[in-house]
Amino acid sequence: MHELGVTQGLLSLVLEEAEKIGAKRILAIDIVIGELSSYVDDSVQFYFDILSRGTIAEGARLRFHRRKGQAICLDCGFRFEVGLPLPDGCPSCGSPYLQVSGGREFYVESFEVE
Ligand SMILES: [Zn+2]
Repeated sequence: MHELGVTQGLLSLVLEEAEKIGAKRILAIDIVIGELSSYVDDSVQFYFDILSRGTIAEGARLRFHRRKGQAICLDCGFRFEVGLPLPDGCPSCGSPYLQVSGGREFYVESFEVE
C-alpha cells in the first residue's frame, strides 16, 4: 500500500521532466527498485495506471530493474549480494553478524517519450 506515495512521486517527477522537454507522450519508464525494499512491481503498476489517467503518461510501460543489496560479514569480511529473504548467516564462515547496505532504492532511471 505504501506504493501509492512513491508512485505519485514518480509520476509527478516524470511529468515535470517530460513537460520541460516538450514531450507529447510518455511511452516507457525505467524504474530501479531495491530487492530489500518491500515495493511490489504489480502494486506500482496498479497505482500508476490509476494516477496517470488523463495525463501524457497514460498507458506508459513500466520497466522494473531490481537491484540487490550488499552484505559484508563482520567476522571474516566476506562480501556478497543479498535479496529477500535475508540469509541467516555468512555463506563463507556461518557467522550471523552481517552488515547489509543498499537494496532499498526506488527511483526513475530514465524514460522514453514521443
Ligand atoms: Zn563470514
